[in-house]
Amino acid sequence: MNLILLGPPGAGKGTQAERLVSGRGLVQLSTGDMLRAAVAAGTEVGKKAKKLMDAGQLVPDEIVIGIISDRLEEPDCKSGVIFDGFPRNLAQAEALDALLGEKGLSLDAVVEIRVDDEVLISRIEKRAAESDDERSDDNADVLRDRLKVYHEQTAPLLPYYEGQNKLKVVDGMLTIDEVSEEIEKVLNG
Ligand code: AMP
Repeated sequence: MNLILLGPPGAGKGTQAERLVSGRGLVQLSTGDMLRAAVAAGTEVGKKAKKLMDAGQLVPDEIVIGIISDRLEEPDCKSGVIFDGFPRNLAQAEALDALLGEKGLSLDAVVEIRVDDEVLISRIEKRAAESDDERSDDNADVLRDRLKVYHEQTAPLLPYYEGQNKLKVVDGMLTIDEVSEEIEKVLNG
């Protein structure tokens, strides 16, 4: 099974992806994690990406499409993958359709984890108040920029996948366990 988890930053895509990895033996492909690894390793890609990531902007499509294309070649992806944080705009979605087509793969479902902006902003403010260990792109100001990018560039993927009859929506404002149950329901149903 190949899945996309879609949703705004902070909706819990990573947490739910981890549960799908242990529950269904899928491989999590998080472009955010891969880019953070490139930043930490100080690669050329990492240097280019860091400024954009810190500003809450998207890194160029060719970088993330290249990363995903290479990663999909690795044998573990044969058991099925969860795209987490990719695609982020229509150009990436079209590139992913083409990539999967070339590799003889297909998407089974796109799960939208839906959460209101205000809930995300209050969650991040609460987390910031409780901890002084912040990721450089993890504060309320950057979150507002990331939400703007999400609504402008990523939200158009919802009608795109609805048009392919693949979109399933779950309420991301429930507890983590309840969201997992909802995801299982839509995937099994
Ligand atoms: P994430 O961990 O998925 O929230 O991603 C963190 C940051 O990495 C984003 O704010 C972007 O700057 C960058 N990023 C991650 N995935 C993508 C993508 N598919 N396209 C462009 N930029 C991305």
